[in-house]
Amino acid sequence: MTPNLPLPPNATIGILGGGQLGRMLALAAARLGFDACILTPHEAAPASRVAASSLVAPYDDPVALAELVERCAVITFEFENVPAPVVERLVAAGSCVAPGPLALAVAQDRIAEKSFFISAGVACVPFAQIDRAEDIPAALARLGAPALLKTRREGYDGKGQVWVTHADEAQTAFTSIGGVPAILEGKADFVREVSVIAARSWTGEIAAYPLAENHHENGILRKSVVPAQVSAQTEGQALAISERLLARLDYVGVMGVEMFELSDGRLLVNEIAPRVHNTGHWTLDACEVDQFEQHIRAIAGWPLGPTRPLASAEMINLLGEEALDWQRLAADPGARLWLYGKDGAAPGRKMGHVNRLTGPYPG
Ligand code: AMP
Repeated sequence: MTPNLPLPPNATIGILGGGQLGRMLALAAARLGFDACILTPHEAAPASRVAASSLVAPYDDPVALAELVERCAVITFEFENVPAPVVERLVAAGSCVAPGPLALAVAQDRIAEKSFFISAGVACVPFAQIDRAEDIPAALARLGAPALLKTRREGYDGKGQVWVTHADEAQTAFTSIGGVPAILEGKADFVREVSVIAARSWTGEIAAYPLAENHHENGILRKSVVPAQVSAQTEGQALAISERLLARLDYVGVMGVEMFELSDGRLLVNEIAPRVHNTGHWTLDACEVDQFEQHIRAIAGWPLGPTRPLASAEMINLLGEEALDWQRLAADPGARLWLYGKDGAAPGRKMGHVNRLTGPYPG
């Protein structure tokens, strides 16, 4: 359902999920005069602590969902593992949900996601569906070793993934990811990981930020750098791929598209995130309209904002105890510090990030 657009200020925007992405979305909503209402199962979640209101309940709680439908002019989500039936229920109750259930369904299952890429004519790594350990040897022989075994669902930050080199590792590998339905992916021999953060409006208009170059450590994003050191042709190809995926999904809002750049400049899409994305946090300080405001603008039917950066930039994630360094970072005039208000700095947990402007934006 399309809401009466554009949404006027003071309307309430529902956000499923209470993490840091929800927090920055709620701040952006407030900037434009909207009230954010967070649905989260956790008390005092990072997003709830800055939002106008919160409902603390399981995502499938019927009373909380009815309340959300009642309060919100449009509902969005900040992570892709919101149960699909919840979103379907909101839509059935007459709510306007953006992005819609199709994007969520595609992004929740790696096999559905890869199949979608192929149907859209977008290149990705070769893959095989793995339902049991016995499926691995033949798949490995076809894809070549090593290959990456990933859970079909609910993997993030490199969790639920293991490399497989020999057929005799099949059982151990399958057990190590929990013995759940999986995908085996051929290894992408990439020279660079890049991502596009792009927004699409209710009327099909698309605005994309330039490519970010991303560096991971132990499967977790460590750093994003803009501009990415890619050719203009590769940049154009990445934007064209993203536009095609957004249009095919009839997508509304901001989406992150992660890609591998091969040595010959070709791009393979790794995955899509139907939400604002960690590799777009640099836009908070380097752009007139950042990815969070852009998402709110898109789902509220407001004009999309400019995406050309005002400066080159770099974003570094603060993982675990690194955020305890906040006093030094706060005293560094070149560091734009973002902290998520989380307690408990478990190793690898995303606690905040630092943006730095590194010079004029070229061109
Ligand atoms: P993902 O959870 O799919 O984003 O994977 C996390 C990270 O693992 C990626 O950012 C890559 O660094 C690496 N990776 C994932 N899939 C592949 C692949 N098929 N080939 C090589 N590296 C991969």
